[in-house]
Amino acid sequence: MQASVQTALSPQAGAVSGGLPKVTARNVNLWYGEKQALYGIDLDIPAQQVTALIGPSGCGKSTFLRCLNRMNDTIQGCRVEGDIRLDGDDVYAPHIDVVHLRARVGMVFQRPNPFPKSIYENVAYGPRIHGLASSKTEMDQIVQTSLERAGLWKEVSDRLHQPGTGLSGGQQQRLCIARAVAVSPEVILMDEPCSALDPIATAKVEELIDELRENYTIVIVTHSMQQAARVSQRTAFFHLGKLVETGSTDDIFTNPVDKRTQDYITGRIG
Ligand code: ADP
Ligand code: MG
Repeated sequence: MQASVQTALSPQAGAVSGGLPKVTARNVNLWYGEKQALYGIDLDIPAQQVTALIGPSGCGKSTFLRCLNRMNDTIQGCRVEGDIRLDGDDVYAPHIDVVHLRARVGMVFQRPNPFPKSIYENVAYGPRIHGLASSKTEMDQIVQTSLERAGLWKEVSDRLHQPGTGLSGGQQQRLCIARAVAVSPEVILMDEPCSALDPIATAKVEELIDELRENYTIVIVTHSMQQAARVSQRTAFFHLGKLVETGSTDDIFTNPVDKRTQDYITGRIG
């Protein structure tokens, strides 16, 4: 079955060497009511790499990102057509449990959005609802490991029972990353995760993204081309709801093929 996904690869999908892609999108079209927002998107997302989605505001980056874990299901009037697969499994198949899907494909949003609960509870919430810990000791371990992976443990280990909302913006965003990591996702989607952060907090999160790719597949939306160049191995350029070009980040930034990509990276559109 996975072989058929491979052969369906269109030129724009950007064949990825070395192993099957973690996520494949084929001919994805999306409408908000009457208005079409995505047109025939074909994209392969390789495992354990960072794929950046870039393009001018309103070009459909967030919309496409939300297709990958069916977050668009919650938007009334939104309709998706096409084929999206996670390890070859159809994400839109009727039997798919979206709660489970969203544990496999976690999400970090633009504004840090910790729950109004303690740091510990923010991280423990997901593992609890998914029944991932059978004892307090096991839960403590998950919380610690998740906070370590998010590079936050040292800063919060002595105040786990204080509110998550009391942390700085950058710490809150790393807490949200710990919360995503806590349910052992395979893919982490990040929608402009640094846009509300100062440069120092941004640098920390970018460093973290680079570490996380050892264990997770990451897709990041960013309006910053510098950030895409710093954190990603693959880049996909969107324009007016279409995927114009995708390839290695180096190629996209140094040797773009499409005129629209050239214009965007040289600052003529956007
Ligand atoms: P980007 O993330 O690249 O800035 P979006 O994916 O947010 O772009 O938006 C793509 C297009 O879809 C835009 O024209 C936007 O106005 C429209 N859009 C986004 N979200 C909604 C929504 N919930 N309802 C209707 N239209 C939307
Ligand atoms: Mg967006």
